[in-house]
Amino acid sequence: MKIIMLGAPGAGKGTQAKQIADKYGIPHISTGDIFRANLKQGTELGKKAKEYMDQGLLVPDELTCDLVMDRIGQEDCKNGFVLDGFPRTIPQAEALDKALANINEKMDYAVDVDVPDENIVNRMSGRRACINCGATYHIVSIPTKVEGICDRCGEKVVLRDDDQPETVKKRLNVYHEQTQPLIDYYKKQDILRTVDGTQPMEQVFGAIVEILGA
Ligand code: ADP
Ligand code: ADP
Ligand code: ZN
Repeated sequence: MKIIMLGAPGAGKGTQAKQIADKYGIPHISTGDIFRANLKQGTELGKKAKEYMDQGLLVPDELTCDLVMDRIGQEDCKNGFVLDGFPRTIPQAEALDKALANINEKMDYAVDVDVPDENIVNRMSGRRACINCGATYHIVSIPTKVEGICDRCGEKVVLRDDDQPETVKKRLNVYHEQTQPLIDYYKKQDILRTVDGTQPMEQVFGAIVEILGA
């Protein structure tokens, strides 16, 4: 099964994508995680990506597309994958469709996790991310068992640099301008499915499983 997670920054794409990956036994591919891992390792790609990420801007398509195409061509993606944070622009979506068409494949679903802007700033200021394993929490709705410490690996959890309110507002604008048009793009392909992302995490997941099938 090949799935795209759509939605504003902070809508819960990552939270849901991880659960989908576990349940269906397919890799979770997050371009944000890949950029942050590169940054941590000090690669050229990581340094370039950071310049854009810190400003709340999208990393250019040239730096993003090849990376994803390489990743989905790997052996563990044979039975499908869940894309989280890609595509984020129409050219990225077209590049993905083209790459899949070349091997006679196509995406199965684009799941839009719908959350209004009003809820987003609050979500993001409460988001805490593990600097080691990438797990995400929320100080109110999905807290760690021990304050400030990742349940999964015991490392520190932090507020991401780009989750500061000013940057979040910029990212929301970028989302509306560049990413939201993908909703129509996938509607036209008849693979768009929308879930209400304001529900508690378990209910959102239940709605997604209903779409994808058990
Ligand atoms: P969020 O989880 O809040 O949606 P991500 O971790 O997916 O954020 O992305 C963080 C940042 O990484 C984005 O604001 C953007 O700068 C960059 N990024 C991630 N994915 C892409 C992409 N597909 N195209 C361009 N930039 C991206
Ligand atoms: P995205 O990947 O779309 O940027 P995340 O999955 O990182 O979003 O979620 C953003 C923040 O909201 C995190 O702090 C996460 O713990 C929290 N969150 C995710 N899903 C829900 C939900 N259904 N209800 C409340 N908070 C949620
Ligand atoms: Zn961790």
